[in-house]
Amino acid sequence: MAVTDTFSLDAVLATLKEFWGYDALRPMQEQAVRASLLGQDSMVVLPTGGGKSLCYQLPAAMREGTDLVISPLISLMQDQVDGLTACGYPAVALHGGMSAKALAKAEDEIRCGTPHLIYSAPERLLAPRTLEMLEGVDIRAIVIDEAHCVSHWGHDFRPEYRRLANLKNRIPGASWHAFTATATERVQRDIVSQLELRDPAILVGDCDRPNLTYRVAPRTDAKAQLLEAINRHSDRAVIVYCISRKDTERTAAWLDGHGVNAKAYHAGLGARQRQRVQEEFMSERLHVVVATVAFGMGVDRSDVRCVVHMAMPKSIEHYQQEAGRAGRDGLEAECVLLYSAADPAKWRQLMTRSAQEAGEEGPPEHQLQLLMHIHRFCSSMKCRHAALAGYFGQAYAGESCGACDVCLGENELAEDAVVIAQKIVSCVARLNSRFGSAQVVDVLRGSQKEKIRRMGHDQLSVFGLLEDTPAAVLNSYVDQLIDAGALDRTEDDRPVVRLTDQSLEFLKGLRDVVLRRPKVVERRKTRSGRGEADWEGVDQALFDRLRAVRRGLAEARGVPAYIIFGDQTLRELARHKPGTADEMLRIRGVGQQKLDDFAEDFLACINDGA
Ligand code: ADP
Ligand code: ZN
Repeated sequence: MAVTDTFSLDAVLATLKEFWGYDALRPMQEQAVRASLLGQDSMVVLPTGGGKSLCYQLPAAMREGTDLVISPLISLMQDQVDGLTACGYPAVALHGGMSAKALAKAEDEIRCGTPHLIYSAPERLLAPRTLEMLEGVDIRAIVIDEAHCVSHWGHDFRPEYRRLANLKNRIPGASWHAFTATATERVQRDIVSQLELRDPAILVGDCDRPNLTYRVAPRTDAKAQLLEAINRHSDRAVIVYCISRKDTERTAAWLDGHGVNAKAYHAGLGARQRQRVQEEFMSERLHVVVATVAFGMGVDRSDVRCVVHMAMPKSIEHYQQEAGRAGRDGLEAECVLLYSAADPAKWRQLMTRSAQEAGEEGPPEHQLQLLMHIHRFCSSMKCRHAALAGYFGQAYAGESCGACDVCLGENELAEDAVVIAQKIVSCVARLNSRFGSAQVVDVLRGSQKEKIRRMGHDQLSVFGLLEDTPAAVLNSYVDQLIDAGALDRTEDDRPVVRLTDQSLEFLKGLRDVVLRRPKVVERRKTRSGRGEADWEGVDQALFDRLRAVRRGLAEARGVPAYIIFGDQTLRELARHKPGTADEMLRIRGVGQQKLDDFAEDFLACINDGA
């Protein structure tokens, strides 16, 4: 079967095997590769881990000339180039972080036509000097990575992306290919029109990530919940996201005090310190990084087994992207989101502040809409896989995913929710809607605090009505009642919980109420049954030894460990235990260059144990 008139499927597969050591293309990859080889514009939407990079790397290796990849982030760009280099695939980057010498070397290679791909950021690429240099280069395809950045309706609009269409005049013959992991239908349409794609092949893959288990839990005892999650993945990579820099540092310090080696990572750290954390994480000497959502991009490993959000992100797109950093290697992984009804208000405050700093009155309407959608996602009790798919305009097949807090039945529902709601609402009424949730909780729990007595709140009829409910759980109940509209919270610096026009109905017990609290389970499974299947026949002791070999090789070369081999490949090695180089070449993920470079070390390790 031919992929196009000029390229046979055999030739495509041979290239795939040579550089990447894979035997087959995934269905969407085959269509994307075909479009590129035909010179037809395309827009590809595939989830993280879906294999987008191969879609443009493969065709570039099959024909003459050099293709151009536009990517917004230097760290991601450099990772891609490092990864390709390890596969023996010639590629270069052009970005501001490079030394003059490295830049000159890259430009030389480009002039000689050596690299299949040039990675560059928009600013750099559109600089007159770069455009001039590219004039003599035979560019067949222009690839726009993270293409949602071109849309106002996306979650990461970058004005410089809007200028990319100008390249059409400078490089008239090239086909255009837009790639993104997260785009609603509206954003997809925007990408096509902003980039002026001509009759593009629209390739939208299934956005679901079946290897991820989603858990959205009310934030009752954040630190304990975090530790519980981390302990489910000891000695594996975990990323923890916080909203503020201060929180990342506090959380990392707290974890350190509880036996978990963790480091903070945010834009306020010096470049040196950031570099150090990044390197330790990439080389697997450090497993837990606590990052700000604004800055977590730099810490990215394909074997991240767990992503924890300490608070609600500001859109579903952000969530999909951040949580999506878990399990990029396709193996099972977990995403935990700790949520409180105070989070949306916090975001609104931050958004308002930054809008005002920019001279606007308030945040733009579409930001608030994105916020409302993620808020609904968190407070609903719908299957998480189904809810995410639905948001991105896709149907989710099947009744129960077996891989989210809802479908796994991990939420305990309070049996007497209606009565609990009555007690809480009545307490707010007794406090005349003039106090924050801490006071509401203290009164209901019958606290002996000085402040309570001084104000005479120990004399209220509601005092001590819920004394057996832990404060953290009670706090979460207040949050949930706010979500349900039974109560409301003001959005100033000292938020007050107050009654709403629906409160009376809740007080009279006329409204149905669902209140949930997370069940504490020591060792929860990730996807049911799947974990075991992935490890079937794998010699786990050998797998750990192979990881150590990988770590040594990565350190010696100063590259992230996964660039040597992914976990997927190590598992295959520990399952099939190849004894010779020929046998090893048959393992998925082992290409020619990596065989030449690494076979000796890994075979020695395998044969040692045999
Ligand atoms: P994305 O850019 O969409 O997040 P990547 O390009 O990083 O995804 O690919 C995710 C993982 O899947 C990588 O480890 C990659 O090597 C692997 N992969 C991609 N295509 C294939 C394939 N055809 N067969 C096996 N593994 C693949
Ligand atoms: Zn589910």
